[in-house]
Amino acid sequence: MAKLQPVRGTHDLIGDDARSHLQVIERARATAATYGYGPIETPVFEFTEVFDRTLGETSDVVTKEMYTFEDKGGDSLTLRPEGTAGIARAVLSGGLQNEMPLKWYYAGPMFRHERPQKGRLRQFHQIGVELIGVAEPVADVEVIALAAATLDALGVLSETKLELNTLGDTESREAYLAALVAYLEGFRDRLSPDSLERLDRNPLRILDSKNADDRAIVADAPSISDYLTPDASAFFDAVRGGLEDLGIDYVINPRLVRGLDYYCHTAFEFTTVQIGAQGTVLAGGRYDGLIEMMGGQPTPGIGWAAGIERLSMLTEPAPAGLRAIAVIGIGDAGEKTALKVAQELRQSGLIVELNYRGGLKRGLRRADKIGAAAAVFIGEDELARDGATVRNLDDGSQTDVALADLKDHLAEYR
Ligand code: ATP
Ligand code: MG
Repeated sequence: MAKLQPVRGTHDLIGDDARSHLQVIERARATAATYGYGPIETPVFEFTEVFDRTLGETSDVVTKEMYTFEDKGGDSLTLRPEGTAGIARAVLSGGLQNEMPLKWYYAGPMFRHERPQKGRLRQFHQIGVELIGVAEPVADVEVIALAAATLDALGVLSETKLELNTLGDTESREAYLAALVAYLEGFRDRLSPDSLERLDRNPLRILDSKNADDRAIVADAPSISDYLTPDASAFFDAVRGGLEDLGIDYVINPRLVRGLDYYCHTAFEFTTVQIGAQGTVLAGGRYDGLIEMMGGQPTPGIGWAAGIERLSMLTEPAPAGLRAIAVIGIGDAGEKTALKVAQELRQSGLIVELNYRGGLKRGLRRADKIGAAAAVFIGEDELARDGATVRNLDDGSQTDVALADLKDHLAEYR
């Protein structure tokens, strides 16, 4: 049998990778909690319509990237490509529309069938937040401030730049789309095939194209800022004002649109130049149309998601934390006592590595490998005096300690 490999675009999290990953989730959770956001977990798969009705039938995610399959009962199911649609579904199926505002954070795997490369996987992970039920621009400010605070808690805020744009309200967007299409029509012969298709179905997405020729064309395209209604303009001004009040720096990027179709008003991304081509670490925006699109009452919402793998590339591996104590039993009787001693020390809050077999030499090798602070030997001599030998592994000094005093003696290694 050929050596089994992980599926292309998936990866295992082991050692430092696993620690960094958990560190991102833990710090994001702690930061969201200070803003009053609680946890939500929705299923990893949903009925396909949850996504294809909402993400927009012309979005990349729906047209190319979804993992969709028929289950044994004949239902069409899809592995979630993002978190927001499932959360909106949960609002409706849970009957939560009278409990606004809803404030949630989540973390978990997402699935997109794209071409794997650095920072682009088929199973990747996101942390994200949603604030549902608040139409005021202060919600946008809070959610962006929470994004900045999360990046700050991870020590990466200074390596990122906040890019901000508005997609306006429906009226602004329609006026802008007409101008954009009129402009792009003049480049039909030069646009990439993908963009040509979008020109007819979803021209806004052309602004998001990664094709170099498209980008050159888009650089001179009309800007949405010239097509905003007074309302949309006032909304954007309020968001900008709030960010300025909080001292959160941003740059306006008139080409910034979200990859998914349900967004309006505020769109934002935190980008970095440190991790290569896939430089967007966190992206979000306002999605006032989403819940209505799913059959609910019109309900405003705003949120963001950040790729944990991309964040991990920017962060240092988590500090190892408390160093372990290696407890090494020698001989049958020593091993028996070591098992009990290890248990007691663990209950007192120490991190204890027990040698499972093989005596002193093997136990010390393991202690060295894991960077233990001290080793506790329990052999025949020690058993005879109801004690243990404690070796400080940094300076090599050894102390005879009675088993009854061991816990207190080791407290200095905390
Ligand atoms: P891109 O333009 O890079 O394809 P997107 O617009 O598809 O991004 P979103 O749907 O906004 O991305 O997802 C938010 C964040 O999730 C991204 O900024 C990124 O950090 C992360 N992300 C998205 N797709 C992937 C992926 N395939 N692999 C790893 N991380 C991803
Ligand atoms: Mg994408």
